[in-house]
Amino acid sequence: MSANPSEEVNPGASFLASAQSALKDAATALNLDPNIYAILKTNERSLIVSVPVEMDDGHVEVFEGYRVQHTGARGPGKGGIRYHPAVSLEEVSALAQLMTWKCALVNVPFSGAKGGVSVNPRELSVNELRRLTRRYTYAISPIIGPRTDIPAPDMNTDERTMGWITDTYTMLKGESSGEIVTGKPVNLGGSVGRINATGLGVAISAEQALLRADLNPQQCAAVIQGFGNVGTWSARHINDLGVSIVAVSDISGGYYNPQGLNIDEMVAYTKSSPSRTLAGYGAPGLQPISNEDLLTLKCDVLVPAAMENQITGANADKIQAKLIVEGANGPTTPAADTILQRRGITLVPDILANAGGVVVSYFEWVQGREGFYWTADEVRERLHRFMEVAYRDMADFSQERGVSLRQSAMMLAVQRVADALEMRGVFP
Ligand code: GLU
Repeated sequence: MSANPSEEVNPGASFLASAQSALKDAATALNLDPNIYAILKTNERSLIVSVPVEMDDGHVEVFEGYRVQHTGARGPGKGGIRYHPAVSLEEVSALAQLMTWKCALVNVPFSGAKGGVSVNPRELSVNELRRLTRRYTYAISPIIGPRTDIPAPDMNTDERTMGWITDTYTMLKGESSGEIVTGKPVNLGGSVGRINATGLGVAISAEQALLRADLNPQQCAAVIQGFGNVGTWSARHINDLGVSIVAVSDISGGYYNPQGLNIDEMVAYTKSSPSRTLAGYGAPGLQPISNEDLLTLKCDVLVPAAMENQITGANADKIQAKLIVEGANGPTTPAADTILQRRGITLVPDILANAGGVVVSYFEWVQGREGFYWTADEVRERLHRFMEVAYRDMADFSQERGVSLRQSAMMLAVQRVADALEMRGVFP
């Protein structure tokens, strides 16, 4: 339960309210032109679509889908597509706005967008999922395009989904259109290193934070909430830094071993388990742990890599981590943020910490447009550079202005987008 009742009512609405309040705070701190703020508060375009799908048994199920473009100020729209029962227009709007700030902060020439379908993908067969994806792509096709808005994977969508979108869009246009999405299979023009990019970016952020806190990774323990694409790759790459991963969780529960978990073994287990989760996983010394207890475990690094609104006014007081690195989008509510800041817990915000995915999406888009592909080393080395520069800008500005890393990241990002809007002027 949350201490702040508005955090509970409609998760999507409270998430959007959090995003709006972060923008408002940054606008106030920057003394932003009210005309620019008035534009940034709103979404440029929001599309709601109905997605009828013929199910395997012959009956038709109708799902609701969305695509929201926040602002076109700094380039074409960019952002993932999420399949989850909690997807709503408000949630997608908040996520589109976060994408704007993320792209600006890491300096990739995109604006924020996001899409989603309100569906529980675990209840659909592969064929149903493919039909859903194709119909959704068709429904949003009037507003997406390689130069207008480029989708990518997000929660419960992956390379396979992006392959279906590529094919559907190509069929609709009658021409090769690989640049319509990023996060495609390498075989269809995807980039090497895209699949693990978000997790690697989380680990690079964690490394920067540990370095600045004078903590030796070899003597540190990390806890990861969420074991999807972001959680698993964050765990692996943070483990590569020498940090011991002592607890992880997924929808089947939490898994804790103070001596450290065998992440590779756990990832291999999820790949072969019928539910694709950790359900039934066992190992010597392993203890079950609840989600609430996992978040408040004593550790050096906590990586929330599941959903939004996880660290709230109700549990922020009990967090025992020294550093929080936000792998998910919006896992910390504003009420929790205030508490963590007061308690001196360093928090690396989502728009920096999980930006590795969109940075490599940018690399993929560039490679697709050029028709010339980079090596894994080139992708990795360039991702490191983008993340380290953005981290340094954020950390320096935070020191200079005496604000938290989140406030600093938001101020830098909002200023960059505001500058672009200022240069363009208001159409017509
Ligand atoms: N869904 C990812 C995110 O939230 C990646 C978006 C992209 O690559 O466009 O950042």
